[in-house]
Parts: sequence; C-alpha cells; structure tokens
Amino acid sequence: MTLALHITRAEMFLLKLPLKFRFETSFGVQTARTVPLIVLHGANGEVGLGEGVMEDAPMFREETVTGALYLLKELFLPTVLGQSFANHQAMMLRLSGFRGNPMAKAMLEAAAWDLWARTLGVPLARLLGGVRTQVAVGVSLGIQESEAATVQAVETHLGQGYRRIKLKIKPGWDVQPVRAVRSAFPDIALTVDANSAYTLEHARTFQNLDAYGLDYIEQPLAYDDLLDHAALQRRVATPLCLDECIVSAETARKALGLDAGRVINVKQGRVGGVVESLRLHDVAQAFSVPLWCGGMLESGVGRALNIHLSTLPGFTKPGDTASASRYWERDVINEPLEMVGGYQQVPMGPGLGVTLNSEFVESVASEHWTTEAGH
Ligand code: MG
Repeated sequence: MTLALHITRAEMFLLKLPLKFRFETSFGVQTARTVPLIVLHGANGEVGLGEGVMEDAPMFREETVTGALYLLKELFLPTVLGQSFANHQAMMLRLSGFRGNPMAKAMLEAAAWDLWARTLGVPLARLLGGVRTQVAVGVSLGIQESEAATVQAVETHLGQGYRRIKLKIKPGWDVQPVRAVRSAFPDIALTVDANSAYTLEHARTFQNLDAYGLDYIEQPLAYDDLLDHAALQRRVATPLCLDECIVSAETARKALGLDAGRVINVKQGRVGGVVESLRLHDVAQAFSVPLWCGGMLESGVGRALNIHLSTLPGFTKPGDTASASRYWERDVINEPLEMVGGYQQVPMGPGLGVTLNSEFVESVASEHWTTEAGH
C-alpha cells in the first residue's frame, strides 16, 4: 500500500477560554483567549489536530480569527479536501499561490503534520528530527502593579522550577522592575520583552539595561522593522532577540545578515508553519544564532506542537512552553502538559501525542462547523 494523505473532512471549533490571570503586556490587558481548533479526518479514520494563534484583533501581527476562519472555510479547505497528496508538505504546496496569512496556513499545516505523523505511527518530534525527550521551560510574566509584586511573581515562578524569567516591559516600566528583580536574584536567567513598544529614540533605556546582565532584550522596536534593530544592536551589548518581525526564514536571513538580533524567538504560526520553522532553524544554525520557542497563550494542542518543535537541536534556550495549568482551569486535551523541575516531557505517542477532550471542547465552543470534500 502506498501511503498518501487524503483528508475527507475538517471540523472547526471556536472556543473562548478564560485565562486564570490578567496578562498585561505593552499591547494592553488580556483576560481570555479565543482558540480556533481544526480537526482533520483522514480516509482511514485517523485525525490531526491544529490550533490557530491569530487573535480577535490584529494586535500582535495583522491576522485575525475571523479572517483566518474565512480563508480556511472558503479557500484553503476546499482546495485540499478530497484530494490525495504524497504527504503533508505536498498538500501545503497546493496553497502556495495564496499570499501571506501565515497563521491561517500554519493552523492547517499543523493539523496535517499531526495527521501524517499519526499515520506513520511516530511522535512528531521524531518526524521533525528532534534530539530531545524533554525541553527546558521558562515563563513570561505580564506587567505587574509594582516592583514588589514583580519580585514576588518571580520568586513564585522560580520556586516552581522555571529556568528563565521573562518580564514584559513598556515605556515607563522597564529599568525599574529589572533593577528590582536583579537585586533580589543576582544569578537567574532574566530577559525582557517590549513587544515593539519603543523606537530608536529610547536607545538610552536599552543601554541602561546593559548593566543588569539580561540574557536578551526581546523585540524592542517596530513589528516590521529590521534596520533600526540593527542600529540599536550596534549601541547595546545585550543581544537583541527578534520575535514579531521574523515572519519567514528569509526575513531571518536578512535580519541575521544585518546583525539586527542575535537570538530568535520561533513561533511556528508567525512564520507560516512547521516547514518554514525548519527552514528558519537551518538559517539560524548557519549563523550560530540560538533559538527558543515562544508562546501565544496556546491551549494544549498548540502547546504540544511547541514542545515537539523545541526538540530541534537549535532550540538551546528555555522556551515559553510553561505548564498548561498556569493558564487554564481546564485544558482542551486529556493529557496534562506540566513543567516539572524546569522541563516539559515531550508527549511521545504518535503525532502530537495528545488527544482532544471532545466533551469539554463541545461544551465551550461558540462555533462548530464541518466541511466535507465536494461540499
Ligand atoms: Mg515576544
């Protein structure tokens, strides 16, 4: 029998999950997340799970949940359903004529990777070329109300075992919390993330941060900029880490060629999927630039994918793949994805190694529709 990828049906769920805490970044405050989930059904009864990382409003990048669902329903799924492909990568090539919209494509591609790995009966990490069975985990702490609250939050998460602390910062709340945390914890791996809230006029702020031994400063400048990041990197000793502005392996090549950053935060949805993440991984390896896996407040489906991706050899820094229970009272999958002693174990069943809690998913779905081949 020749193996082929043949998707007969796709189910889409739109969930609204309340966050367990108030997450403040330079964008604003978030208290819940809209989670789009896709379930692909193969010809032999196997399933593949994918989660979208786009948001209700275009705050992080341009894509939105509504826009992505439209594209999936009206363009992407009708293009691939009912067809036979040599594998999941051949299926995604069929969509290459549609420009942009990396997060919408990545959502479908993620489910296709899961389906394909389950068809082969291997864990996704193995299919990707992963080299680890557990991945180091850091935590991203939102903006707190005071220095004391920040130090307290850091202490709590260090006590839980997180191996790197990241503080969200914004203009007016940057050097102050870093100084407080560094004086309380002189030796921890500490980073900051500005989510594009600054301009080159703030260069002095980042030069001041050089005194605190940060592992890196994440995305200080505009979400679509490379040149100003390169100018800032020339003025600060701390490595810059690029997140929002790396949308493909090709932008990573240009960014690293310009020395616009010396670390990259990989979010598979932001770059258009797992295949593009693998290409980005190779570019970073060529420049000897370390990677780590970022997070978009994923539910268990997206979190499991991030953990598998983090097993690649270039992911040498702790990622934002914190415990699911930190975010959600109840997750959409049956398996707990919990950090223990600073590490997440890679779920080693076939594919993502996790299963959907269908009863719970249906109970919190605000939308649920099915697209079949030929309809
Ligand atoms: Mg970031």
